[in-house]
Amino acid sequence: MSMKDRPAVSLLSCPACGNNEDFIEVAENVIITTHYVQNPDGSFTPGEDNSQILGPVRLICGECEEDLTAFHHRFTEMLF
Ligand SMILES: [Zn+2]
Repeated sequence: MSMKDRPAVSLLSCPACGNNEDFIEVAENVIITTHYVQNPDGSFTPGEDNSQILGPVRLICGECEEDLTAFHHRFTEMLF
């Protein structure tokens, strides 16, 4: 199957401004836990970190900041 014969992909686009390139995901109430090890010279080296999202996650248009959270599920399915 050539490129030309492929069914057209329906892109996620902002209903307000038509933007289909730039999107912003905003996570609220995030707890970031970072493990540090202190070195003999007194400096600290960060080890593994962990972030935990407690609040809602919103999807926003990168152009006009329209709230696109209704499309967030679809957005995460296409994230790779
Ligand atoms: Zn927009």
